[in-house]
Amino acid sequence: MMSQGNSREELVISEDPNHPANLICSLCKNFYSLGWVTGTGGGISIRHESHVYLAPSGVQKERINARDIFVMDFPTKTYLRRPPSLKPSACTPLFMASFTKRNAGACIHTHSQAAVMCTLLSKGSTWSIANVEQIKAIPRPSTGGYYGFFDKLVIPIIENTAHEEDLTERLGKAIDEYPDTCAVLVRRHGVYVWGDTVWKAKTQAESLDYLFQLAVEMVKLGMDPAGPITVAE
Ligand SMILES: [Zn+2]
Repeated sequence: MMSQGNSREELVISEDPNHPANLICSLCKNFYSLGWVTGTGGGISIRHESHVYLAPSGVQKERINARDIFVMDFPTKTYLRRPPSLKPSACTPLFMASFTKRNAGACIHTHSQAAVMCTLLSKGSTWSIANVEQIKAIPRPSTGGYYGFFDKLVIPIIENTAHEEDLTERLGKAIDEYPDTCAVLVRRHGVYVWGDTVWKAKTQAESLDYLFQLAVEMVKLGMDPAGPITVAE
């Protein structure tokens, strides 16, 4: 699927800070400072019209520049730009699942410690939290709106695999089984979060990470994150 267009720089070089290739670079710096993409882990993909923009694999995410960005045609999944010295992200088929199954505009993958801790604190195949204001930032497609303060937010957890691309089938199944979810946690690994636009994906990833961090602190204090509202004595 290699095309002769490997160095098609016009696909990624733009002075517009909101060009997807520039956004991937600036958001990766942002995510690095949050501890989401430490040590080359994690990543982000943006879909704009018929193009999918992807950060490369195994590179320091806070140091990438627009020339490092891969571009794929959507939905044919043919590479339009493939920097020869870099490897495409192992997350590519997982990002694609959010684009094809949910029509997402962007998908963010983090190795956030709070996300990993929530998968360790939840024995089953879901993680949940209730009665926290920040869940109102999470969309609920079945209602055409967002979760309410008194709703319980449920995020599926899938088991990790030795190779990231082998998660694709499990992630796709979780997306199908949980039509209201905008995220899938991966046990001992991290989380995939998608949104209709890159900004929605970003705010949803931030809100979820806030909830993951809060839940970890609640469990440390013996509280149930998904339990009823209780007043400390
Ligand atoms: Zn990962």
